[in-house]
Amino acid sequence: MKTGNMILVSNRLPTTIEPGPDGPMLKPSSGGLVTALKPVFKARKGYWIGWLGEGYGEEMDELLAGSATDSACQLVTVTLTPGERRGFYTGFSNEIVWPLFHDLQERCNFDPTYWKAYVSVNRKFADAAARVADHGSIVWVHDYHLMLVGEFLRGHGVRSRMGFFLHIPFPPVDIFEKLPWRTQILRALFRFDVIGFQTPRDERNFLGCVRRFLPDVDFQRNDGEVRAVSDGRETLIRNFPIGIDFDEFNTHAQQPEVAARIAEIREDMRGRQIILGVDRLDYTKGLPERLRAFQHLFATCKSLRRQVSLVQIVVPSRENIPKYRELKLETETFISQINGQYGDPGWMPIHYIHRSLERPELIALYSAADIALITPIKDGMNLVAKEFCASQVEERGVLILSEFAGSAEQLNNGAILVNPYDIGAVADALHAAYRMDQGERTQRMRKLRRRVRNADVFRWCDEFCSYLENGYGRAARAA
Ligand code: UDP
Repeated sequence: MKTGNMILVSNRLPTTIEPGPDGPMLKPSSGGLVTALKPVFKARKGYWIGWLGEGYGEEMDELLAGSATDSACQLVTVTLTPGERRGFYTGFSNEIVWPLFHDLQERCNFDPTYWKAYVSVNRKFADAAARVADHGSIVWVHDYHLMLVGEFLRGHGVRSRMGFFLHIPFPPVDIFEKLPWRTQILRALFRFDVIGFQTPRDERNFLGCVRRFLPDVDFQRNDGEVRAVSDGRETLIRNFPIGIDFDEFNTHAQQPEVAARIAEIREDMRGRQIILGVDRLDYTKGLPERLRAFQHLFATCKSLRRQVSLVQIVVPSRENIPKYRELKLETETFISQINGQYGDPGWMPIHYIHRSLERPELIALYSAADIALITPIKDGMNLVAKEFCASQVEERGVLILSEFAGSAEQLNNGAILVNPYDIGAVADALHAAYRMDQGERTQRMRKLRRRVRNADVFRWCDEFCSYLENGYGRAARAA
């Protein structure tokens, strides 16, 4: 065991609280990030700092302490008032940074009170981390909600190695420059030792912004790695594309109960090809554009009517933000319009599911699908694309993927890449996928699966931690 502890900081803790017969009960989250980060605590003890959910505060720390028995990770809550949560999360994070970093500046509400809340809540997260930091601690801060935490931690005198990973895209300079607090955010990021992005494009965008707004920062490039020196401190800037737990999906897809469910789904669809869409309800996922492309397909290619159906899973998200409620209404209206226009008693063009599915059902759908249609207008990575490939054990599905998803950088070899705004091209891609023979499907899917398997989430975590702890990567460490 190494001496210092590992301190993870993220907006949400990897657990939720549910009412139980004897009071609140903890339910661990099962997301990919949680799975990926668990091994971190095999090598070091540590803490995970985050928000627990509406209505729960520090009084829950005792319950959380009890939950640490099976792991070396102690969960610590950051308590936020409803007002702080609104300004920091709903406001600055999701009405400013989220749309701006997805290139949608017209959706931003640059309310200065949001910035104040963002600063004070970032300070609270840093205060909580500083309380548990010791001399040899390693600190890893996650995502766009917490870009100022490094600065406040340094203000506390914490000299540990600290890293930051951005899970969403980083925008180009002519979009980032709209942010009234652009310089403060860039400066704060340089208090970290490692800044990680999803793709080379995000890394390039970030470097472009730094050159423009922090001209005093010096860069050194070595072996494809960029090190920047600001105020005498060196920061490594690098892309670390996040992966998934390939084995979990691959193994699960081969379980007998999943195989039975796949057969059932195929039978229900009566031999029609299944086109699958899986998205959180978010304007970045390109749902209206996708539906327009689908409508265009039926309008221009009559022979495909009754031959395919779109199964569209929409996972509810950020329902307290008005723009998200409007998008739900817009999506549902559009779907019923298409079904009304083309459907008949024996065939519905679109099967719409508005809820989060349990993992086995999701994997059965990934496996049963003939085509995955994943067309975000911008996405940091898009894990659904990778999960689809990992679940395709029969190697028969075709992946149609937006060129604006981060995953397109890695999956361009086997996927059909499309511009989601080009509805004619998306309809053509659907047509090509529908007609693709089994040989080509297998060849493409095999390449995709190899790529997803080789760059899984454990490798991502290991690589980031190597840079964070040692200042260099796995390859250099092995040499
Ligand atoms: N997901 C889920 N239940 C569902 C549909 C999706 O848990 O019914 C998960 C899916 O497995 C994936 C995540 O939601 O891990 C979506 O991640 P992605 O990177 O594609 O998009 P994000 O929602 O993070 O923008």
